[in-house]
Amino acid sequence: MAERIFLSPPHLSGQELEFVHEAFESNWIAPLGPQVEAFENEVAAYVGTKGALALSSGTAGIHLGLRLLGVGPGATVFCSTLTFVASVNPALYLGARPVFIDSEPDSWNMSPAALERAFDDARKEGQLPKAVIVVNLYGQSADMDPILELCNAYGVPVLEDAAESLGATYKGKASGTFGRFGVYSFNGNKIITTSGGGMLVSDDTDALKKARFWATQARDPARHYQHSEMGYNYRMSNICAAIGRGQLRVLEERIQRKREIFEIYQEQLGSIPGISFMPEASFGRSNRWLTVMTLDPSIIKRGPWELVDYLEEHNIESRPVWKPMHRQPLFEGAKYYPHDENSSVSDTLFETGICLPSGTSMTDQDIERVIDEIRSYLAS
Ligand SMILES: *Cc1c(COP(=O)(O)O)cnc(C)c1O
Repeated sequence: MAERIFLSPPHLSGQELEFVHEAFESNWIAPLGPQVEAFENEVAAYVGTKGALALSSGTAGIHLGLRLLGVGPGATVFCSTLTFVASVNPALYLGARPVFIDSEPDSWNMSPAALERAFDDARKEGQLPKAVIVVNLYGQSADMDPILELCNAYGVPVLEDAAESLGATYKGKASGTFGRFGVYSFNGNKIITTSGGGMLVSDDTDALKKARFWATQARDPARHYQHSEMGYNYRMSNICAAIGRGQLRVLEERIQRKREIFEIYQEQLGSIPGISFMPEASFGRSNRWLTVMTLDPSIIKRGPWELVDYLEEHNIESRPVWKPMHRQPLFEGAKYYPHDENSSVSDTLFETGICLPSGTSMTDQDIERVIDEIRSYLAS
């Protein structure tokens, strides 16, 4: 059996060890410490925000961000439907109810048309959402200008789930820096990793200070362990931050390679009738975290999930596109606004899409192997 090709495994640069050594030599292997502070400063400088807070996961960042925005019991939040459940689970932690918004076809991210209808209904019902969670899917920014225009008109703040889009840009500015808060993930499968971790970024440094307090068990400034608010154990460890610093130094290289991988797939497979690839909207640069391909069912009879199984038989890992949140049993009964009355973009993408192996450590031969297997599948 040929060696396994993974979807998007971690890819270390070697530089991580220098920083991990620093952490060991200074005996800072406890949570927090100088590597954490340095990593926060470096990420904030890279994306261009006034502050950053390193956390144990991206999910923790979304949780803290939503709490900062006042999301609580009885509140509603709007959220992109085409995403991983971690975008919206934190709304449930806080006792809020999600309303799901479809994608638009150019970026596969939040549809401003659907968002507008959702706001219109919310206004009529007399309950605006406390926050809008905008997801930047598969490494590409959502179309932030029309989304922010609507949110500003209604006075509702945006939290950007940029877990997948570190290094991407929208009109020249870093993805994840358009909302009141932005969240990146350093989980093992993301474009860079700390083995597990996340970062909450914002220009509101007072809010980040509050989040920092909550994330370290909300200890009041007293010697005797006094607490007046509920807190969490959400900070990143010094060792993880050391790994992150080494990874951040190769982020640009990783983006270049991710984009190259996409281009090879598209060049080799894009002219086959019925095959398309996730578009790159003209407003920005995608980091192409995952290469996503769609199969037109009117031309290619067998669906993408059979292709996932076929590739698995050949020891190649691939995945269907995220199953939209409005179709999850967990969110049964939640409101959903499709892109237009007659077409749900996210449903079509779920039914036709497949995420191909996109690890930056793949060789060109590995990519060829995946392409050859896809060709044999289509020919069979
Ligand atoms: C990975 C991911 C998250 C969660 O990040 P963790 O660091 O794993 O908690 C949230 N949203 C999206 C869209 C993701 O892909």
